[in-house]
Amino acid sequence: MDKKQEQLKKEQKETLKLIGILSIGVFILLILSIILMNSLTMPTVTPEPKYIDIDNIEGMNLNDAKVLLENADITYEIIPTDSKTPNKVEKLEFVGVTLSDTGRLRIRIGTTVKLYANEVAQDKVIYLTFDDGPTRDNTDYILETLAKYNIKASFFVEGQDVALYPEKMLATFDAGHVIGCHSYSHVFADVYASTNSFIGEVNQYEQALKNALGEEKYAKVEKLIRFPGGTNNSLILEQNPMDYINAVRENGYKIYDWTALTGDTEGITETNAMIEHMMTTLATAKNKNQPLIILMHDKWPVKENDSLSKIIDKLISEGYYFDTIDNCPEYTFAEN
Ligand SMILES: [Zn+2]
Repeated sequence: MDKKQEQLKKEQKETLKLIGILSIGVFILLILSIILMNSLTMPTVTPEPKYIDIDNIEGMNLNDAKVLLENADITYEIIPTDSKTPNKVEKLEFVGVTLSDTGRLRIRIGTTVKLYANEVAQDKVIYLTFDDGPTRDNTDYILETLAKYNIKASFFVEGQDVALYPEKMLATFDAGHVIGCHSYSHVFADVYASTNSFIGEVNQYEQALKNALGEEKYAKVEKLIRFPGGTNNSLILEQNPMDYINAVRENGYKIYDWTALTGDTEGITETNAMIEHMMTTLATAKNKNQPLIILMHDKWPVKENDSLSKIIDKLISEGYYFDTIDNCPEYTFAEN
């Protein structure tokens, strides 16, 4: 009897032990499965990239470079240069930074760089623009004159003339000038018949430019446009200018009217009179804090008496620098 009871007690003990071991096992399994579930459902945490690519910063517009660096928490110091090209990063120097081994120019976030640039106030930067080209008689003269001063300018061209003088368009591009759209036909009644008609002209211009430059160079041309007659011409004002502005923006274009002019299409042909008109309109633009965009025309007599050289001489003597319109904030009459 005692032996039986003892046996029973022993068995009970064993059972309890087994239950204990089992429940510990179940508990461990439970914990393990929770860990496993979590690791499956939680996103894998990869560290934030600690570098940004800066391959293109040399040659970049200074303001664009500043935004890029500020967004990446990179401190920069601007080292002044006396370059004739304003607000352009000429050189970048690392300050105590180790390059990553990716073979690309990258910079560690949170460090410091030196930017070499001639930082010039907006009211000292002139954007020379030439409309209504290219032409048989004047484009070569304009390109030669700009080359003489090593100045880059902007050409708002008509698609029909690009088709006529593709080699002049190619020479303009190869010289590093900026090319923009100025419709295909320049015939107001066609261009401003409707927004569809306008976009049709833009498409025709694009095709003509592609033919003149070839695919590869054409791909490098930024989408910039000047409306024939400006965004406040009489035909567009009979409609809603913003319809046209929105339509070209939807096609990726930045729009530029002008803020100063030589008056070459308004009957002013004598060099000194053009310079005087230009200085008066520039002064007005400066007073209004507008970008200094000078309108001239390829089709009109900038060539007579070497006017363009005298115009540029005057601007240089007044301490102005020159830049291309792609570096200028958009400017439209309709919105200013
Ligand atoms: Zn025009």
